[in-house]
Amino acid sequence: MELWQEMLRQSIDSGKDLVERFGFDKDTADRLNKFFHTRINPYYLSLIRYPGDPIWRQCIPDAVELEDTNAPEDPLNEEADSPVSSITHRYPDRVLFLITSQCSMYCRFCTRKRKVSDSTKINAKHIQEGIDYIAAHPEVRDVILSGGDPLMVTDYALEKVLSALRAIPHVEIIRLGTKMPCVLPQRITPKFCKMIRKYHPIYVNTHFNHPWECTSEAEKACGMLADAGCPVGNQAVLMKGVNDNADVMLELHRKLLKMRVRPYYIYQADLTKGTNHFRTPVRVGLEIMDKLRGHTSGLAIPYFVIDAPGGGGKIPLLPQYVLGRNGKDIILRNYKYDVYTYPDVEDETPQDNVVEQRYLRKRSNGRKSATPKMPTPSPEVVRVEK
Ligand code: SF4
Repeated sequence: MELWQEMLRQSIDSGKDLVERFGFDKDTADRLNKFFHTRINPYYLSLIRYPGDPIWRQCIPDAVELEDTNAPEDPLNEEADSPVSSITHRYPDRVLFLITSQCSMYCRFCTRKRKVSDSTKINAKHIQEGIDYIAAHPEVRDVILSGGDPLMVTDYALEKVLSALRAIPHVEIIRLGTKMPCVLPQRITPKFCKMIRKYHPIYVNTHFNHPWECTSEAEKACGMLADAGCPVGNQAVLMKGVNDNADVMLELHRKLLKMRVRPYYIYQADLTKGTNHFRTPVRVGLEIMDKLRGHTSGLAIPYFVIDAPGGGGKIPLLPQYVLGRNGKDIILRNYKYDVYTYPDVEDETPQDNVVEQRYLRKRSNGRKSATPKMPTPSPEVVRVEK
């Protein structure tokens, strides 16, 4: 057994553990554990500095999860785009492929609780169905392996999936969506790195949310992935009491770059059941972006996105840098809120009109008497005060 597997065996993994280690009453512990299983491996547990800190909030259940009964179980409507249960095919040329339901730490904010931690939801038959689906769809050139965490399976089992995908001529790139470099960096072993080298191009999307997660162990794991030829990107989720603060986000993204991890997304928290206490106003994310851009390397700036409820996909949000037009001049502001005028060239079809026409055409499709109107952007979305 490898070290990471031994560490997994020592995880906090039951309602009984919650009672004994964290003083939950038995009934609450059982209800929380039934709502979403608890698993905290010893490495991630060791990062907690005090009760209620940003690490604690991500992994220790909270009774308020049980009060949030109205939110959907599938906020991104992934099931509607699932031709077979292991595949979500939402975008034209890429698919999400779930190869396990297991994770080394169950994040309390997880969007995919409906499948994660339940080992009956993804099995060998589902994996084969996923491979068959990808093989039968030549438009799929990009496969994102996820779960659960795809690095929860053994190197042998993962290699079987990778080699099957690489045998499909139209699969150009493979991405591993894994939280292991953050939550159990011991999973990134020389043996694993040697194996994935055979299946390039492989990209890794990992998931750090707070600078305290950027430990020497995590740095070593990310460095090994980079040395193995995998570009590593990070997806963070914006959460109240964890990272809803520009200084924390700045520190996180600078540390990630030092660890050879490129910031990729900051997600506005999804509307998942049991996660209402993590939600922040959209304004907070825009303010964070405003305080990153210009104040640190462009390399450290991720996209801030809302994954649209109901399955609309990722929609990027930006603070407002274009203040308006004066004739053909564009009035802009920079990161210090200094205002500049850029003399644009003559343009008979301003971009605003192109976007508006596309929007109106889409709204009119199939509706005989549609009288669509371009929505007025909410001031909260387009404007960030200094
Ligand atoms: S690692 Fe990912 S899939 Fe697993 S619990 Fe965390 S967010 Fe959910």
